Amino acid sequence: MTKMPITQPIMKANKITFEDTSIAFSNKSNLQLRKMYLIFASMNQNWLVKLGTFFIKLFIFLHFPIKKLIKSTVFEQFCGGETLLECNKAIENLDKAHIGTILDYSVEGEDNESSFDKTREEIAKTIEKAHNNTAIPFAVFKVTGIGSADLLEKVQSELPLTQDESLAFERVHQRMYELCQLAASLKVRIFVDAEESWIQDTIDALTYDMMDKFNHDDCIVYNTFQMYRKDMFDNLKEATQAAQEKGYLLGVKLVRGAYMEKERQRAHEGNYCEPVHENKQNTDRDFNLALEFAVANRQAISICVGTHNEYSCKYLADLMQQYEISPTDKHFYFAQLLGMSENISYNLANAGYNVAKYVPYGPVEAVMPYLFRRAAENTSVAGQASREFTLIKREMVRRKRAK
Ligand SMILES: Cc1cc2nc3c(=O)[nH]c(=O)nc-3n(C[C@H](O)[C@H](O)[C@H](O)COP(=O)(O)OP(=O)(O)OC[C@H]3O[C@@H](n4cnc5c(N)ncnc54)[C@H](O)[C@@H]3O)c2cc1C
Repeated sequence: MTKMPITQPIMKANKITFEDTSIAFSNKSNLQLRKMYLIFASMNQNWLVKLGTFFIKLFIFLHFPIKKLIKSTVFEQFCGGETLLECNKAIENLDKAHIGTILDYSVEGEDNESSFDKTREEIAKTIEKAHNNTAIPFAVFKVTGIGSADLLEKVQSELPLTQDESLAFERVHQRMYELCQLAASLKVRIFVDAEESWIQDTIDALTYDMMDKFNHDDCIVYNTFQMYRKDMFDNLKEATQAAQEKGYLLGVKLVRGAYMEKERQRAHEGNYCEPVHENKQNTDRDFNLALEFAVANRQAISICVGTHNEYSCKYLADLMQQYEISPTDKHFYFAQLLGMSENISYNLANAGYNVAKYVPYGPVEAVMPYLFRRAAENTSVAGQASREFTLIKREMVRRKRAK
């Protein structure tokens, strides 16, 4: 395993830099840049995000005609469109910069069987669209899109299921099987997103079952590892060992984790030990240890790092250089969300690395929860907006000077 420091800045400079705003915003017109500036400037004001979120929820509830306004602002910034067809423009734009698209059907539907079947059908369409399409390197889905979260939780708690629940769980398994089988038959790699810890064991068990079915010749199914969890580095090592014993390849999407507050609150209410690290440093340490582990075990693992953290991206690029892994090696991918951290995605792609963006799509009203989460993540408290905002400002100044 590598001996490089994991919490210090990289000393052996890799050529990759995320500072070049002319590359980061190369596909944005002046007008688009100005629009982005206004969106991130607004998000930089916590009070405005809180107030805006409240009023948008209220207006949607009252059926006020604000869809057009949302669609031409935040929706356009963070989503590909309302339908698969509408996403074509975003796919083409990203492809021009050699960035792949991961079509993410972001509708948080109702908790019933017909909604789960509908979501399964839509995800199947994204897999079909990715077939033989180099602009769409992965598909993705959430297990809670195709099955009830309450049921997944009950399975995890090992409480006896009623006959109806057993049948419903069999249907979740079947939907997942159909999606992974379709992906395998069309040679489309597919991510299973990670969710809350109280359902994640069930998701893991389903996902490893799929890997055992479809990952023997090629790495098709990827599980997601949330490194904010105290047990996750050990889980990664165990999953690698299990994959090697069973003779399949382990697909790893590495993230820090999106449900920290929810996890802490539930642990507090349930009076159990928080599964999430006490501090960010420990999450960062485990994330970077996991990168080292994945690179050192690359015969067994294919990895996609889903992060907006510049250090982690540089660190993986550096490790790849150290291990003489080609930037275009298909077992290594970087991924960010559409509309965020363009400086990372575009500069990595420009340097020849494999990069893809999650491109969420769905009817405006249905993707609003996703947009509210992006808004919260982008407040100045969370720190992301000011970073985006500074970069956009810098590019606007650069363009003015270049005239
Ligand atoms: C392509 C892509 C796919 C994703 N898929 C998933 C998914 O399937 N499941 C999922 O849960 N998330 C997913 N995420 C979201 C991800 O987990 C992070 O929430 C988000 O990317 C922010 O982390 P970061 O590494 O980008 O940035 P950073 O700003 O470096 O890290 C922020 C993250 O650090 C952790 N953190 C912050 N403060 C603390 C603290 N005090 N103690 C401990 N940890 C702390 C949290 O995880 C927080 O989200 C995905 C993100 C991307 C870009």
